[in-house]
Amino acid sequence: MIYDLVEIFESLQGEGRNMGRPCVFVRFARCNFSCPWCDTDVKKRFSVTLEELLSEISQYKAKSVVLTGGEPALVEGMPEFVAALKERGYFIAVETNASVDVDWFQFVDYVACSPKSEFPDRIALRRANEVRVVASSPDVAGFCRKVRAIIDADDYYVSPCDRDGEIDFATAKSVLAELDGWSLSVQMHKILGFR
Ligand code: SF4
Repeated sequence: MIYDLVEIFESLQGEGRNMGRPCVFVRFARCNFSCPWCDTDVKKRFSVTLEELLSEISQYKAKSVVLTGGEPALVEGMPEFVAALKERGYFIAVETNASVDVDWFQFVDYVACSPKSEFPDRIALRRANEVRVVASSPDVAGFCRKVRAIIDADDYYVSPCDRDGEIDFATAKSVLAELDGWSLSVQMHKILGFR
């Protein structure tokens, strides 16, 4: 099995409930969306085998792995990869745009999803540990209510939109003012300047 990636690196989880947890981030290349603020650099794409992927992850100290993208749910060979990580004792989190639901999500420890208000009719996921919605416009509150009616989660977050390094807290604050049971999730890695 060959996996198309953009990058593998070790850092701290920068957002959501697991903020601050040391993790190895595995960023897959392929995505089914094209969000205007997307910062996934697909020009850095490279391919690895399962053995190479596991070997690279083992070079790092962190015992948590974040499967991110791109859209990890589109990756073939993920059940094998997840099973291999489990065998090695890793805590596994996945970050998904919620447009695809796959069986292997039930075998990971933490599902974080970020449905996109630009694609409001493409929510397939029904259950997650956390939901994060980017406050890309003041109208996002209505989308948040829709998401909450579809996806059962432990935590619901609104994230400020980052456009070329400009973090828009004002819109996130105005969206949160219209919602009940949602809280702010900042991207701490951008604020503190770590990767
Ligand atoms: S879902 Fe994520 S990876 Fe895909 S285009 Fe949007 S921001 Fe980029």
